[in-house]
Amino acid sequence: MARAAAVRIASGVWRIPLLGDFVNGFILRAADGQVTLVDMGIKQSGPKVMAALASIGSGPSDVTRLLLTHAHPDHAGGAAHVAEQTGRDFGIHEDDAPYAEAGTTAQRDQSFLVARIMTKLMGSNAFPPVTVGERLTDGQVLDVAGGLEVVHTPGHSPGHAAYLHRESGVLITGDSIFNVRGLRWPIKSFCSNFALTQKTAHRLAEGDYTTAAFTHGPHLADQPREHIRRFLATHPTVD
Ligand SMILES: [Zn+2]
Repeated sequence: MARAAAVRIASGVWRIPLLGDFVNGFILRAADGQVTLVDMGIKQSGPKVMAALASIGSGPSDVTRLLLTHAHPDHAGGAAHVAEQTGRDFGIHEDDAPYAEAGTTAQRDQSFLVARIMTKLMGSNAFPPVTVGERLTDGQVLDVAGGLEVVHTPGHSPGHAAYLHRESGVLITGDSIFNVRGLRWPIKSFCSNFALTQKTAHRLAEGDYTTAAFTHGPHLADQPREHIRRFLATHPTVD
């Protein structure tokens, strides 16, 4: 059976599996039909995002906002294609905006040998540059289908953000925590500051939500906040 182009995870919210469940984008659709897209996967994912949109009966002209959780090639890679198709610019936290515009990632945490080697081998880990419109700040509530709150959770990258959609009860976590064969930390060497990633992940235990929509791994709809709290309690922050 073909994999669904979009998986409905809450009222008006869909997950777009872009590399199986391993890399996800998201669609939020308001009652008036306006669509917000969050995260665009790798460079080859752009057409998949557009196909997912079509699969729920919306088109490029319905898209009124584009967002990124952070400027990494597995999230921003397909952004240039989607911007071209929809004629919209991207919103991203102000601290990641320069990287999105340059099509590069922030320097990896150089305290890890593998990060130093990766940086040497792969340079800045480029993706097609993204045109940034709005530069977002922590606590900002975007006018998206009843309100979407920007939750700045730096560490994975300087401007990494989660997005909390109050109306549907969905928290788009970003890369602070992965749900790949269980909850786990992101790969240390892909973080710009791993200790800070661990520290700010605690913000995900605070919000009021009923579905945790992970950018890596399937979503959790059964007591997700309790799962995340348990994960944080059993995986203490290393300073
Ligand atoms: Zn990622």
